[in-house]
Amino acid sequence: MQRFNLKGKVGIVTGGNGGIGAGIARGLLECGATVVIAGRNAAKNDAAVAELGKVGPVSAFVMDVTKEEDCYSVVREAVKRHGRLDILVNNAGIGSGKAPDELTLPEWHKVIDTNLTSAFVMSKAAHPEMKKTGGGKIINIGSMASYIGGARWTVYGPTKAAIIQLSRNCASAWASDNIQVNTILPGYIDTAMTKPLQSMAEFHTAALRRTAAGRIGTPDDFAGIAAFLASPASDFVTGADIPVDGGLLWGA
Ligand code: NDP
Repeated sequence: MQRFNLKGKVGIVTGGNGGIGAGIARGLLECGATVVIAGRNAAKNDAAVAELGKVGPVSAFVMDVTKEEDCYSVVREAVKRHGRLDILVNNAGIGSGKAPDELTLPEWHKVIDTNLTSAFVMSKAAHPEMKKTGGGKIINIGSMASYIGGARWTVYGPTKAAIIQLSRNCASAWASDNIQVNTILPGYIDTAMTKPLQSMAEFHTAALRRTAAGRIGTPDDFAGIAAFLASPASDFVTGADIPVDGGLLWGA
């Protein structure tokens, strides 16, 4: 299992206090990494640390990914606590289901700042630390909305489409520093974000019909792919976007 061994590696998972981020943090911990989870809500952070602490060494940092100074602070803090930074997972995100005529400009900026600009700033903050130790892994989180359009994905879709290009461009820029940058594209996953959608019978049924696996995804479905993309097993994988969707993308 040496190819998947993350012992001695240190990772930050933004939004690691719940949902997909917690599933990713669990996968990294299971392979031996030390993890810092970062989110705004201190109570959620503490609860996640209590749960994930049963798997491996994890701590939390209260921060807001839309604040540039917080992004630099969490990187500084992770290095202060653990001496290095090898893995960055830009998972924090918010949904937005508004048509163009409903969406306001402040809402537009909030979703862009949270889902897209944050990944740029976090990656920029992490890059020198990774370079210093000879390499690193950055994992960004896209969506089916990275590829598929929709009347209500006015701003959510553009953030998730652009994150793919951000990944590719950072992958290209930092390949010579031995930093691989990839994007995971979740399908329809059971988290706080989709709870309201799950109670909309028509949407829920249509999403499941498209999903070849025939079920909604769970945060645990992200543990393996994240561990792979964070490990030496994926050293020749960079700039890729990988659906983890049970077949939703090509489903009819
Ligand atoms: P959740 O709502 O369960 O989790 C979102 C996480 O992001 C929380 O931990 C939250 O923590 C954190 N977060 C949100 N805003 C900020 C902020 N400004 N600063 C710091 N942390 C923040 O959603 P999911 O787990 O479903 O979503 C995770 C990622 O997966 C998102 O990028 C989402 O777009 C993407 N995704 C999800 C899909 C799904 O079906 N669930 C499908 C496709 C993509 P806190 O509240 O403490 O700040």
